[in-house]
Amino acid sequence: MPKHTKLTHWREDVPLATKVMAVGVAPFATRLEGNVDGTPVWSWVFTENRKEGFHDYSVGLKPLEFYSRLIGPYPYEKLANVQSKTIFGGLENASCIFYSENSVTGKGNAENLMAHEIAHQWFGNSVSENDWHHIWLSEGFATYLTAVYQEKTYGKEKFDEVMKSARNQVLGFSSGSPKPVVDTTVTDLMKLLNPNSYQKGAWVLHMLRRELGDDLFWKGMRLYYESFRNKNALTNDLQKIMERVSKKDLGKFFNQWLFVAGQPDLKITTGPGETKGDTDLIIEQTQDYLFSFDIELQIKDLNGSFIIKIPVSDRITIKTLNSRSILEIKADPNINLLFRIDHDKWFTGYKNENKE
Ligand SMILES: [Zn+2]
Repeated sequence: MPKHTKLTHWREDVPLATKVMAVGVAPFATRLEGNVDGTPVWSWVFTENRKEGFHDYSVGLKPLEFYSRLIGPYPYEKLANVQSKTIFGGLENASCIFYSENSVTGKGNAENLMAHEIAHQWFGNSVSENDWHHIWLSEGFATYLTAVYQEKTYGKEKFDEVMKSARNQVLGFSSGSPKPVVDTTVTDLMKLLNPNSYQKGAWVLHMLRRELGDDLFWKGMRLYYESFRNKNALTNDLQKIMERVSKKDLGKFFNQWLFVAGQPDLKITTGPGETKGDTDLIIEQTQDYLFSFDIELQIKDLNGSFIIKIPVSDRITIKTLNSRSILEIKADPNINLLFRIDHDKWFTGYKNENKE
């Protein structure tokens, strides 16, 4: 062998998807940050960024520990968080995550990015979609788990803010000519890296969590990981697991949110009820395909404020309220539904004409 060369063999005992195999070579400064259940967590940063890089990447232990408890054992022998020249913000290579070089700032800005890429070790890498068109099984999962990590770390308010912002991105993307999340017509695969795969995928999981409740939802997520660890899966595999744990038929749920374009576009108005003193709430689905969902409305009248949950599946749903003076209606106060509301005809203050 010529001088100044080095031959390295790397052996990985766990099967890896080729999309998350990578080799990077550079002079690195490395530091062992600690370990989670015996998994060592390393920071690898450019030598000139040693101080800031170690500071920023040390947070990598936290999401690893959080997801290990929430989902199941981490799938690989180690985790290295690596500063690199990737063109992406981060690239979730199995057990050796590459982050863009400017992820290192010394200001600790990399936490959410790291939480996203680390979530991929479970979903995207270990459980990997069997077809690119189902890439929401990677990106929607990583996006939602990052939001849940933020919920755990920074509280419900932060979580609501993240989900609202994700909803706005989905609505922005779906205005014009909406496409389904699983869009098999896409041939330029890079185009699948869009808000449908990331933010809408996250919203589908969020609504599924609300539909099933926390216990069953997380039980389903754990079983899905356990069943497809080191394997490939499609959307239907997830549906079957979730149906098994919940004993519910989720066919309509999965179809409408993942295989149909768009979302409920609602117009909510009020009018006098048949009985004097009542008010009718009229909820209209204005998009073509009719969705089935529950919507919560927070109603403020002269007696105070209350929340009602209304199941909607028809074109028009009418709910009669025994209230004379509705002052304000807020749709989805707890951020549980992906929908658009017609703001032009919407109101926050309404004076019932029946008012005596
Ligand atoms: Zn990702």
